[in-house]
Amino acid sequence: MKSMSETEETLRRLAAVPSLQVSTCVPLSRYTRFAIGGPADIYAETRDVEAFIAAMDIARGSSLEYIVIGGGTNLIVSDAGFRGVVLRFVGERLMAAGNRLMADAGVVLQDLVDFAIDRGLKGLETLAGIPGSAGAAVYGNAGAYGHSISERVHKVRFLDDGQVRVFGYEECQFHYRESIFKDHKEWIIFSTELILEPADAAALRRTAEDILRVRNEKFPPTMKCAGSIFKNFLLTELPAVVAAQTPAAVIREGKVPAAYFLEQVGAKGMVRGDIRVADYHANLLYNAGRGSARDLCDLIDELKRRVRDRFGMDVEEEVQYVGFENRGT
Ligand SMILES: Cc1cc2nc3c(=O)[nH]c(=O)nc-3n(C[C@H](O)[C@H](O)[C@H](O)COP(=O)(O)OP(=O)(O)OC[C@H]3O[C@@H](n4cnc5c(N)ncnc54)[C@H](O)[C@@H]3O)c2cc1C
Repeated sequence: MKSMSETEETLRRLAAVPSLQVSTCVPLSRYTRFAIGGPADIYAETRDVEAFIAAMDIARGSSLEYIVIGGGTNLIVSDAGFRGVVLRFVGERLMAAGNRLMADAGVVLQDLVDFAIDRGLKGLETLAGIPGSAGAAVYGNAGAYGHSISERVHKVRFLDDGQVRVFGYEECQFHYRESIFKDHKEWIIFSTELILEPADAAALRRTAEDILRVRNEKFPPTMKCAGSIFKNFLLTELPAVVAAQTPAAVIREGKVPAAYFLEQVGAKGMVRGDIRVADYHANLLYNAGRGSARDLCDLIDELKRRVRDRFGMDVEEEVQYVGFENRGT
């Protein structure tokens, strides 16, 4: 623990916040899909906006580090865990008014997708099967099959320095797997409003089920992983010499999968301890048993080194790191 008295004082103050569930020494492996990660000194969650604001205020007013997590499906947490406060907003209201939906950040993304489909609203069905929460989906502009959640985002309500603010689509500065919230990690998303289009619910359901079938084969629901570890590339951002050697067949919707480059450097089937690269997908690393963050990071570093040596460019992680000194998030 950091300074015992500071941790205890922060704990005492957090415990006094109504509707906030607070615990200590919580193994973060329980909260990550990788099932990897040591203990957090303090873990606190709530579905109540006021309680979350109070908790953030206390965490930020202390000298402790703090982080906010969602469903933990895109996190690599160090084996040593996190010296500080882990906060989670688990509000899960989901509402519809005509073709507008409002989802709290803690709503499971798949529940939001199903909610839209059940109401015959088109625009989220290609996100079927992406794990995690609605809040983190906005934060990282999650997407698949050529579409991202940002295409439907109308407003985002978030916490900034004790104040609740609202951004429209433009202000969110969405790009491929990016938003302004990634540049302002202290801004915490509470909810999002989406605008969808009326469509035939049965057809939307079929699209989602087809996608789920394919996804479940690639990422079995029990697989301990984070989906793709590295971001795909926009063709336009590749060094010209690399773009020129990239076969047209691997380019989809203007993007080149990171898996293509990883495969060229022999990633498939690589192993470090219990961490493996899938033998059918070079960008999919998983914990085959009792894998450690150390082995996971070693394997990631080895893959990055190989791609840099061969192609002269960096593959960049899509996953976010927690509890490491020298790894950016
Ligand atoms: C099997 C599998 C397949 C996947 N496939 C895809 C895919 O096809 N497309 C895709 O885009 N992603 C995919 N992912 C990655 C992952 O599902 C997304 O990144 C997801 O949005 C993460 O949600 P989460 O709630 O688990 O967030 P976490 O992993 O808990 O957190 C991720 C980041 O979001 C931040 N965050 C969380 N909540 C908030 C909030 N309320 N406000 C501000 N910041 C917040 C955290 O600080 C952290 O930096 C996949 C993951 C897995 C395991």
